[in-house]
Amino acid sequence: MNEAERLLSAQVRPEDSDTEVSLRPRTLREYVGQEKMRSSLKMYIEAALQRHEPLDHMLLSGPPGLGKTTMAEIVASEMGQNIRITSGPAISRPGDLASILTNLDQGDVLFIDEIHRLPRTVEEVLYPAMEDHVLDIMIGKGPMARSMRVDLPKFTLVGATTRQGMLSGPLRDRFGIIYRLEMYSPEELMRIVARSAGILGVRYEEEGLMEIARRSRGTPRIANRMLKRVRDYAQLRSDGIITLESARQGINLLEVDEMGLDRTDRQILSVLTGMFAGRPVGLDTLAAAVMEDAATIEDVYEPYLMQQGLIMRTRTGRIATPAGYRHMNLTPPDIPAPEAEQDTEQTALF
Ligand code: ADP
Repeated sequence: MNEAERLLSAQVRPEDSDTEVSLRPRTLREYVGQEKMRSSLKMYIEAALQRHEPLDHMLLSGPPGLGKTTMAEIVASEMGQNIRITSGPAISRPGDLASILTNLDQGDVLFIDEIHRLPRTVEEVLYPAMEDHVLDIMIGKGPMARSMRVDLPKFTLVGATTRQGMLSGPLRDRFGIIYRLEMYSPEELMRIVARSAGILGVRYEEEGLMEIARRSRGTPRIANRMLKRVRDYAQLRSDGIITLESARQGINLLEVDEMGLDRTDRQILSVLTGMFAGRPVGLDTLAAAVMEDAATIEDVYEPYLMQQGLIMRTRTGRIATPAGYRHMNLTPPDIPAPEAEQDTEQTALF
């Protein structure tokens, strides 16, 4: 990956760690956008607090960088509880989960990122813990093995996933609250970067920040990162003030186009409109053609390209839409529009 591509990736990068913590909203009030989630969650939290009970288990799904970890931390602080953060790949054996669970305190929030990557054997330990707050441990092996039940404190599990479809049915069914995070509108991203600029002490003109908001693919993590890069540019070129011009120039340097597409996005469009024009392309073929990981294409690139109406998924593969061809300065081929795949993810995005 080159520098520009890495800059646009929605995954956490080491350079984020210093500011990501300070830019993270701490309360529901500070959390921008996702109105439906915010207003219903506010009610559920109030009700749980009144009953002196932990909040129900909650599942958050959506592309990286949209605020899942942030929301888990807010839930813990609004409930007045501590949070323990871990991830699916970090819990490889049932014993790992058992030791996390037995170390929780009453009311704690346990956040498991990438929960779809929990091994099945670990998931099975999680079910009784979520449902009845008990842990079943096997002692011994073979015919002498017996199971022992240990009581656990009541806790709230917050699971985050970029792939709700990969979660097993039994696990999904055990979450009482499920939200799918949506990409942010430019106006919402504008509020996020204005708040971040205030915290970082960056001077700006509104149009400059709006340009960043418009071109950061609906993702707060990218918007904040772009703000920092444009700040550097403005410091050297426009007296440190982020103006429309310095934002444009700074973002152009990152090889991000007018619509917020980076090089990989354009490569994907170029494969669909060039080499395979008009023919549906399977995920693995597409991944090989743009030399990107198939999972990253599905989690990071496709959601934005589909939301912008530039590509669509059909039953047999991905194709570019007429808008996709026009974005690449090409005339769309004259072929009948194929039927879109009936998948909930796509209908939710359109
Ligand atoms: P995820 O867990 O979905 O990958 P994070 O919660 O780590 O995403 O969010 C990345 C960064 O984006 C946070 O540090 C925060 O600064 C910013 N952010 C995310 N969502 C919001 C929001 N709704 N309002 C303000 N800032 C946000």
